Amino acid sequence: LLRTENVRKTYGDKVVLRDIDLVVQPHDVVCLIGSSGSGKSTLLRCLDLLEDIDDGSIWFEGQEISDPRVDARAVRRRMGVVFQAYNLFPHLSVLENLTLAPRKVHGVDSTAAEARARELLESFGLADKADEHPDRLSGGQQQRVAMARAIATDPALLLLDEVTAALDPELTGEVLEIMRHLAGEGTTMVLATHEMSFARDVATKVCFLHDGAILEQGTPAEIFESPREERTRQFLRRVL
Ligand code: ATP
Ligand code: MG
Repeated sequence: LLRTENVRKTYGDKVVLRDIDLVVQPHDVVCLIGSSGSGKSTLLRCLDLLEDIDDGSIWFEGQEISDPRVDARAVRRRMGVVFQAYNLFPHLSVLENLTLAPRKVHGVDSTAAEARARELLESFGLADKADEHPDRLSGGQQQRVAMARAIATDPALLLLDEVTAALDPELTGEVLEIMRHLAGEGTTMVLATHEMSFARDVATKVCFLHDGAILEQGTPAEIFESPREERTRQFLRRVL
């Protein structure tokens, strides 16, 4: 579904991503782990074409999307993205937040968009919040709405950047529950997370980033039970 080859990204003379080779198959849940500053968010932003890469290539659904001639907005329509700070439209109700992109960008008619939005809210435990404005919801509820909005357009790939990092522990649980649910439904995801137990339980592949490189990648069992790299072992000792 997605493949990167030798992706390199610099800011000025600082290399923030180097030799990134990543393969994402349909239904994969790929967890990016690593210390702060290792390049997880930058990688996700490159995959979503929010950042230009300096070298290498990114392929998505058979198309080389790192080609500068590609229409980035068309590519982005096939991806759903949720970042750490929920960025819902504050002046719109929850329901309107969910139906806006399907109606305006994907040309879905209002009735169908609303039906799909209500179905998502129901499955995310938010059915009674459809008409509320985001500022009347808890952080966890807002982040669940943000996830529902990201998948309302049926993206081929979901990119999640530390979606639980801004939440209290008890609210973190309800958002992780949604992510487990999506993974169970076969949603393809690439996510940066500090939630090691989630990575261990749900990931199909774990990538350990260090200093802008994928130092080691493998199944959760390989990475968590028998890491090959000393750096990986050091990182896991600190976070587990
Ligand atoms: P965290 O776990 O704290 O979110 P991260 O792994 O997501 O960290 P990135 O945000 O990808 O790390 O940052 C990787 C490196 O790129 C860092 O050294 C950071 O300072 C640098 N960086 C990120 N964005 C920019 C930018 N816009 N300009 C210059 N340097 C940047
Ligand atoms: Mg980050």
